[in-house]
Amino acid sequence: MTRRRWIADTWTDTTASLTGEQATHLARVLRAEIGQVFDVVADGHLHRAEISRVSEDEVVFTLHEELSADAALPLTLLLSVFKFDRMEWAIEKVTELGVARVVPVLARRTEKHLAHAAEKRVERWKRIAREAAQQSRRSDVPEIADPQTLKAALRDDASSLKLLLAETEQENSLANALENFQAAGLMLAIGPEGGWTQEEMALFTQQGWKHVTLGPRILRAETAAIAAVSVAAALIG
Ligand code: SAH
Repeated sequence: MTRRRWIADTWTDTTASLTGEQATHLARVLRAEIGQVFDVVADGHLHRAEISRVSEDEVVFTLHEELSADAALPLTLLLSVFKFDRMEWAIEKVTELGVARVVPVLARRTEKHLAHAAEKRVERWKRIAREAAQQSRRSDVPEIADPQTLKAALRDDASSLKLLLAETEQENSLANALENFQAAGLMLAIGPEGGWTQEEMALFTQQGWKHVTLGPRILRAETAAIAAVSVAAALIG
């Protein structure tokens, strides 16, 4: 049986607590009661857990046995900042599909007003990732990094396979690039609605990224993100 899953805000060795909005929701909307059993993630570990105290500010669980949990995909997604409603949708869906980390990138063609507002959006993106993680029964919440320039985002990680999703690539497909995947991790990058500039593509190439395609059709950024993560999940998951 899959029980409703919560990701704790605070914990000790033997207890875990939900606070703030989560506690209010559980106490008021779901009418939590002492003795009810849920699955609770505390400190990255999944436990069966029983409610031992309820108020609208805090719901405390006693932790029982640890349960086995699937790990996230070893996948970091560099996601150019694009229109926020679509961006939020992309973050929710790639969380469900199992990404470990999303890095919002301020690309050259990210619209200026979005780039300025991005910093204030991070908290909301984190909340969306957290809710999607719980809803999809993940045992971890993907990390949502602070929005950063492409240069900063590309400083990351030498041990990963790095693939740039580019609608201009005509030969190498993402699926082919992931055949015999053996790297420690995978990084994928999705451009903004206006696509990557030549300069940005050159920067990626300098840092060892390979261009790959999802096929001959031009996808919207959020479609490309979801399609790319789905292909990766099927081949490296
Ligand atoms: N400005 C471009 C489209 C950009 S689509 C144009 O209209 O011509 C936004 C992003 O989605 C791209 O930067 C790329 O990362 C990704 N993308 C879209 N279609 C793709 C495809 N067929 N293969 C790989 N990536 C794609």
